[in-house]
Parts: sequence; structure tokens; C-alpha cells
Amino acid sequence: MTLDSKIPPGPLEEKWDRHKFTMKLVNPANKRKFTVIVVGTGLAGASAAASLGELGYNVLSFCIHDSPRRAHSIAAQGGINAAKNYQNDGDSVYRLFYDTIKGGDYRSREANVYRLAQNSVHIIDQCVAQGVPFAREYGGMLDNRSFGGAQVSRTFYARGQTGQQLLLGAYQALMRQVSAGTVTIFPRREMLDLVVIDGEARGIVTRNLLTGELESYAAHAVVLATGGYGTAYFLSTNAVQSNVTAAWRAYKRGAFFANPCFTQIHPTCIPVSGEHQSKLTLMSESLRNDGRVWVPKTPGDTRPPAQIPESERDYYLERRYPSFGNLVPRDVASRNAKDVCDDGRGVGETGLAVYLDFADAIGRLGVETIRSRYGNLFDMYKRITDEDPYKVPMRIYPAIHYAMGGLWVDYNLMSNLPGLHVLGEANFSDHGANRLGASALMQGLADGYFVIPYTIGDYLASAKLPAVTTDHDAFEGARATAQDRISRLLAVHGRRSVREFHRALGAVLWDDVGMSRTDQGLRNAVAKIRTLREEFWQDVSVPGEESNLNPSLDYAGRVADYFEFGELLALDALHRTESCGGHFREESQTPDGEALRDDEHFSYVAAWEFTGLDQAPVLHKEPLVWENVQPTQRSYK
Ligand SMILES: Cc1cc2nc3c(=O)[nH]c(=O)nc-3n(C[C@H](O)[C@H](O)[C@H](O)COP(=O)(O)OP(=O)(O)OC[C@H]3O[C@@H](n4cnc5c(N)ncnc54)[C@H](O)[C@@H]3O)c2cc1C
Repeated sequence: MTLDSKIPPGPLEEKWDRHKFTMKLVNPANKRKFTVIVVGTGLAGASAAASLGELGYNVLSFCIHDSPRRAHSIAAQGGINAAKNYQNDGDSVYRLFYDTIKGGDYRSREANVYRLAQNSVHIIDQCVAQGVPFAREYGGMLDNRSFGGAQVSRTFYARGQTGQQLLLGAYQALMRQVSAGTVTIFPRREMLDLVVIDGEARGIVTRNLLTGELESYAAHAVVLATGGYGTAYFLSTNAVQSNVTAAWRAYKRGAFFANPCFTQIHPTCIPVSGEHQSKLTLMSESLRNDGRVWVPKTPGDTRPPAQIPESERDYYLERRYPSFGNLVPRDVASRNAKDVCDDGRGVGETGLAVYLDFADAIGRLGVETIRSRYGNLFDMYKRITDEDPYKVPMRIYPAIHYAMGGLWVDYNLMSNLPGLHVLGEANFSDHGANRLGASALMQGLADGYFVIPYTIGDYLASAKLPAVTTDHDAFEGARATAQDRISRLLAVHGRRSVREFHRALGAVLWDDVGMSRTDQGLRNAVAKIRTLREEFWQDVSVPGEESNLNPSLDYAGRVADYFEFGELLALDALHRTESCGGHFREESQTPDGEALRDDEHFSYVAAWEFTGLDQAPVLHKEPLVWENVQPTQRSYK
């Protein structure tokens, strides 16, 4: 099968405008005749459901939380990029496009990324109109700060709570449509299967998480915006309820999974402190605007930071990357942190941490300025570590944070299964092998507010979609599959908790499919995951009943999916013998330890097709075409 990315012809700058003109439209009076299911109410799903409702479609909106507002997007801290060039510092749509392509280590599609940069400017206008309280300068202009991988300031922010404010804006827009009667919300519903009829996505099966009932919903198209799969690693910065279930079950129904090994490890998280933790806390990348990263020059130096004189400190990012300094992209900063810790120069009790020091910035700008920029992050750090970052440097270490991989989509954000569209972190689309900071919010909102409203209309206007109801055999089949999995989980009656298994899976992924990967390590990971999966199905303990509120059962289903998905993640990493972005194969590095791509053999999107649980998945390659940017060895020196 050839994957058709459906990238429109014409010059890069004109592709999206031309495409918008050539796409078919649905007559306004006909829109209410189409039902669209949107699964997920994070920034991508809420913005999509609100926009489709505003257009007049009949929208059914689902999420696993008790309110759409509890989506993981609420946790986003640092900001959202847009090429507004308010700072007059040389930014442009082209520069944002270029930075994103380079930041992703030349493993994303030019056309998608250019459209993202174009739409970025509209997002800010849209959100300001909704009342999102972005930070402002004294004169009233919106303020900007810098994020990694860019030499301009283009990140709009609302203190360290940008995701929360953006989600409140999208939620208001969503609830407006609920009042208008175009959107119906279904909270506490978990999508357990996708219903495919005659090759087209026509509905979903969900479990009502309060009553345990399996429910079916039919539609003309399905939009998945169910977020990323970082919690496969057990400890991550993601919300603990984040999961791969919806995407994975769509994969098992025929949707291709693209680049699953492209996982992002964020350099500035509060380090692991013991076995008691269920998640890790991010310290936003925005802190690297003013914080300086360092470790002692001498291995084994255990003096408190204040007693280590300037001459004995190694500001290793500033030393190695003078052009970008502390604002190198995340993959580069994370690898360097690992390197200095491997070198015995890590700090803190475990030696797995580096300092992020604000003393210079406080001296230069005053404590109140620093408080106004990052106050809530500093408070959070103090509450968790009992150390005051205004007085002592923060200790930080890399942790799993974001999934660049996801379900494969074409330029219209439609998967290879007609009718199934995928938005936000759940798709693979725009970030290549490494996402630049403040670009996820941009992509989720671009997808939801500015891309899907056009492209889904084209699909609905073009496709021949016979009427279907939930009485169709395909719904019955999907319900039976979901029921069977639930019954099997409850029937094991084993001795080990779901969390114990999840932690074990996470340890394998972190050790062998984490910051640094090798052929042998990846082979070991595949074998270990298979063994753990077998043990899971023989010895897991899932208490409670199916016909009731049962968070243990919900969790068990998600971890069961992670055992299947984890294997694909490792297999993808094994097959890609090059290094690129966050995917670092030790066998493929430059003499100074940077990721070394192999463009001749790997300049493609790897899209995997499910063929059966214990069968090898089939690899489909979508070649990446370079017409505007010439891939080079990435350098931030
Ligand atoms: C701590 C932290 C800080 C971050 N800060 C930034 C930042 O400053 N800037 C930036 O650009 N990015 C940031 N990110 C990344 C960004 O927040 C996410 O990538 C983005 O919010 C994902 O949005 P989404 O809409 O795709 O998915 P999510 O917000 O994860 O929403 C997923 C939705 O899907 C629903 N769902 C999931 N599974 C199912 C299912 N099976 N059935 C039904 N519903 C389901 C959930 O209920 C939820 O509504 C940060 C991430 C973290 C973890």
C-alpha cells in the first residue's frame, strides 16, 4: 500500500490557501445532518468540537474526565509559539517553519509545518478574543519569551499556567455550543473501540466509567484527540490518566501508527526521589530564559552549591553551545544532562540531577521580576522539594514528557482509515523526531480551530456515507471485543497489582528505550516486554466489578494496551538504526556525541500496520520530500 500524504501542489506558501479553495464545502443547511464524534476535550479536541459545533455540525464530544476542563492540556505551563514578530527581533512565518523543521531533526513534513507556522498567528488572535489573559508588557502589547531551539522571542504565555488559560478559553467556546444545542458532551466515557464499516470509521464503543455500561455511538466521521502516550513509561510529566487506549484500539482496527519511537524527554523535571511516586513534575522550559544550567567541574564534588566557586562550575550548555546556550532544544539539553551525570558530576543525593540556577538573574533583574515571571513554578518546586529556589539552585533531571509519534494522518489530518481524523498529540504530524517547546499547544489549537473545520467538510461533502445505526453488526462486534477484554481482566484474579506491572514496564522502557538506545538493549526490551505481558495476563489483580465505578479496571485496561504498544515502540526504535532528535542510537553519533542521522536510509515516516497480536507489524514508509529546506547536520553551536 502506498501512503498518500495528500500534500497539495504549488509553492509552499500557497499550498494551504489553494487547498482551502479547492476543497469541497458542505452547504450550511446540510451541516446539521452530519454527526461528528470528537473523542478528547484537551486543547485539540475542545477547539475542534467547539469549531465544528459553531459551523453547525451535530457534534458528540467524549472524555474520560468528569469535566472537559480536566484534560491533561490544563497542565501546560510555559507558553505557545506564534510568528507574530511583536518583538521585531527577526521572526517570521518562514523562521518558525524553519526552526520547527530543524528542531524536529528533519523528520517532519514541510507542508504541514509551514501551515502550522501560518496558522500560529491566528491562534493568538482567536484566544485573545476569547479573553485568554496572556501576559502583557507595560504598554499593553502581548509579551513574549524565548523557548529552546529559537533565537527569537515568540512564546506567548500566561505566567506558568498557559495551558489552563487556553483550555478555559476553548472550554467556554465548547460550552457555548452545548447551550446552542450543536454539541452534546459525554464526560466519564472511555472509548474502547472504533467501529469501521465498509472501510470507513463510523462510530465508537465507549464504557461509561460510572456505571460500567458499554455504549455505542454512530456518526459520519470520528475525530480522535486523545493525547499522547508518555505514561507508557510509568513515570512521566503527563497526567496519570493519559493513555494510548483510543489510538491503540484504532490501530488494531486498521489505522497506522507512525514513528512511535519518537518520544520526547524533557530536560527540566524534578528528579525521581523514590519508589513512592506515580508521576513527575515538570519545571517549564521557560525557566531556561533566566536560569543557568551547571554542574561541578570535578566528579564526586558533593559540596553544597553555594560553596562551589564560579571557577569550579561547568556551565556546560553555555560552553558547548555558545549560540543557543541554555536554550538548546530539549533532546540536546537532555542528552547533555545525562552525559555529565554519567561522568560522575551529577548533584543531589542520587547524582542524577543538575543545577538550574537563578542567582545571576535575580541579581540582574531583582527577585520581584523573577517572581512575576515564574512565581507559581517556584512555589510548586518549593512545595515538592522543601527547598527555596530563590535561594538555592533548583535540581533538575530529564523525564519523559511528550509523544511526537502517533496515529498516521495525511495533510487533511485524516488517517489511512477514511473518516478517522486524528488531532493534537494523538497524531504524529508536525514535530518530527523532537518537538520544540511551546509548539504542542500551537499544534493542538491549529488542528482544532483552523485545520479540521475545513478538511472534515471536504471529506463529508465528498464521501458517500450510507446511513448506519448502532444496530449494525460492526457495533455488535466491537462491543463484544470490548466486553471480552474486560471479562478477561477481571477473571485473572492474580496477586500483583496493575501499578506493579506498569512500573515494571516503565523501567524497561526507560532503561532500554529511553534517552539512549542500542541494538542489544532494544532486543532485550522486546523480549522483556513480551514476558511481562504474559505475566500480566496470568497474575494481575483487578479488584471490583465491571458494572460499577471501578478505577482499577480502567487502569488495567490502559496498562494492558501499553504492554502491546510498548513492544511496537521498541520495534520501531530497533528498526531505525539512525539517531535523530530524541531517538538516540548509540551506534549512530557524531565524533562529539551529537545525533547522527542517516538520510539515505531513514528519511521517511515509519507507519506501522497491525497484523495480529503476536505477528510482526508491517512497515509502510512515507518518504519525506525536501523542496524548500536542505537537511543538514543540526547544530546549535
Ligand atoms: C507538565 C506539562 C507542561 C506542558 N507545557 C507545555 C507548554 O508550555 N507549551 C506547549 O506547547 N506544550 C506543553 N505541554 C504539552 C501539551 O500540554 C500537550 O501536548 C497538549 O496539551 C496535548 O493536548 P491534546 O488536546 O492533544 O491532548 P490532552 O490534553 O492530553 O487531552 C486528551 C483528551 O482525551 C481524553 N481521552 C483520552 N483517552 C480517552 C479515551 N480512551 N476515551 C475518551 N476520552 C479519552 C481525555 O479525557 C482528554 O480530554 C506540556 C505538557 C506537560 C505534561
